[in-house]
Amino acid sequence: MRVEASEPAKQPSGGVMGRMELSLSFFRRHLEGREAGKELKRREGADRSVRATSRVYNPAMRKAFAVLFLLTISLPLFGQSKPDVDDLKKQAISAVEGRQVFTQQMVDQIFSYSELGFQEHETSRYATGILEKNGFKVERGVAEIPTAWIATYGSGKPVIAFISDLDCIPRASQKPGVAYHDPIIEGAPGHGEGHNTGSAVNVTAALVLRELMEKYKIPGTLKVLPGIAEELLGTKAFYVRAGLFKDVDIVLGSHVEASLGTQYGQSFAPQGLVSVQYMFHGKASHAAMAPWDGRSALDAVELMDTGWNFKREHLRLQQRSHYVIINGGEQPNVVPSEAAVWYYFREMDYGHIRELYDLGNTMAEAATIMTGTTVTRKVVGSAWPPNYSKVVAEVQQRNIERVGMPQWSDADQTLAKALQKELGKPADGLKTKVDELKPPSPDTELGGSDDVGDISWNAPMVYLRYPANIPHTPGHSWADGVAEATPIAHKGSTAGAKVQALTALDFLLSPELVKRAWDYFKDVQTKDAKYTPLIGADDKPAIEFNQQKMEKFLPELRKYYYDPAKYKNYMEQLGIQYPTVKK
Ligand SMILES: [Zn+2]
Repeated sequence: MRVEASEPAKQPSGGVMGRMELSLSFFRRHLEGREAGKELKRREGADRSVRATSRVYNPAMRKAFAVLFLLTISLPLFGQSKPDVDDLKKQAISAVEGRQVFTQQMVDQIFSYSELGFQEHETSRYATGILEKNGFKVERGVAEIPTAWIATYGSGKPVIAFISDLDCIPRASQKPGVAYHDPIIEGAPGHGEGHNTGSAVNVTAALVLRELMEKYKIPGTLKVLPGIAEELLGTKAFYVRAGLFKDVDIVLGSHVEASLGTQYGQSFAPQGLVSVQYMFHGKASHAAMAPWDGRSALDAVELMDTGWNFKREHLRLQQRSHYVIINGGEQPNVVPSEAAVWYYFREMDYGHIRELYDLGNTMAEAATIMTGTTVTRKVVGSAWPPNYSKVVAEVQQRNIERVGMPQWSDADQTLAKALQKELGKPADGLKTKVDELKPPSPDTELGGSDDVGDISWNAPMVYLRYPANIPHTPGHSWADGVAEATPIAHKGSTAGAKVQALTALDFLLSPELVKRAWDYFKDVQTKDAKYTPLIGADDKPAIEFNQQKMEKFLPELRKYYYDPAKYKNYMEQLGIQYPTVKK
């Protein structure tokens, strides 16, 4: 772990209070809320009546005013619990709107970096640079992952953490604003999932919150973290193991979608998994002259796969398992001394994932017995199925409804419909209504996995879906990159930043709400299942992954890095007419 020498974060003057007893900080928060509100009104020139009455002071009136004053400051303690939250929210919304150019530049910049999991060097340098410049203290290389970091501002409780992914997709290079496959660099990685927008959402929200916290002396701590190598499900279990969420009160994740919404519970959630590579080791020999001297590692791979495919019929219907052979030997006249296969074992809960993984390990061992080889394994990724907080989701939903969907232009809708047509999907364009908050479905839904699941079992968490993509895209492909550096992504990220900021304010200003989220977390969310990591004590993050792939494309990619000093947006830099659609 490496702690970068950086300027100590500027502490808000309310920081010391944050460490005090809950009740005290609660009391003070109400006072500060009132002061904040008063200052607001003063600025708006709305407290003329107070100034007018102050001219008619006399001792009797002063006493009456004193009683009245005491009454009003004590009222919120027993009455309403959130004074002036609304004023602060209005300010937060206009501050996010005031940062639209900043948000757009961040979206475009990270899009142009296009870095694969564990190789997010430029992206992390860029994001941490912004946060440091804005008073956040940055610790780099956390959890033994070179591109991971944690940025902190403020002090004391509550601790609100923001997280969003950074990595991109192999072979997904795509010109933004073009409604058909047209890569910037043929075969290169690209943001074909839209992870370039998440940091723009969270960082914009964090900077706005920092300003408000400083201005109104709101105690609390903000933490911003990147989802490194999410596409490999490669880091969150290691984050948890490194204790990054130990003192976190509320986690506000954000992920790109074609809609604005949130969810709670488990059955909306994707599956959990273990992603593991089995490396078989045999003995090389001439495949024709002395095959009896050889021990084929490839035989072991094939026997393991055959065994697994027979077993598949007798596994629960909820399981999903798949593999690719990543090393099948060198050439046919050499008995392969090395061969490897990469498995994903997906299931619905920890117990079943563990069972499937153990079964895989047994089959790998069995294959070595049949072939006289040995096996070693490397866990590449793991994920618990997510378990989102109902308390936090309900708070977030109110903010989602308040913020609403972005105003799409004709050009935005034209791009969306043209892409949908290109993909052979219903050409119904972009969504114009926010999603309702639905109770978790009783039917389990199968699907992909996301390693934020591990975090959601360690603190009350929700995952905001913000509307920065086009509906009906296939995911993980060039098509999902089409909108990701266009006004669709820019406006969607601004909407997301507003919701994140408003939801954080709700929890920063109400210790009761934080307590309710934790009560629910303990009494409901984790009542029947406790978090046990799927990674072992000796497992290490797969930080060498994607290194070669990235090195191959870096020289070309560098030529296309976005330069905001020269170009208003990335499409302008690339000379793209918005939208570019087939005639
Ligand atoms: Zn993702």
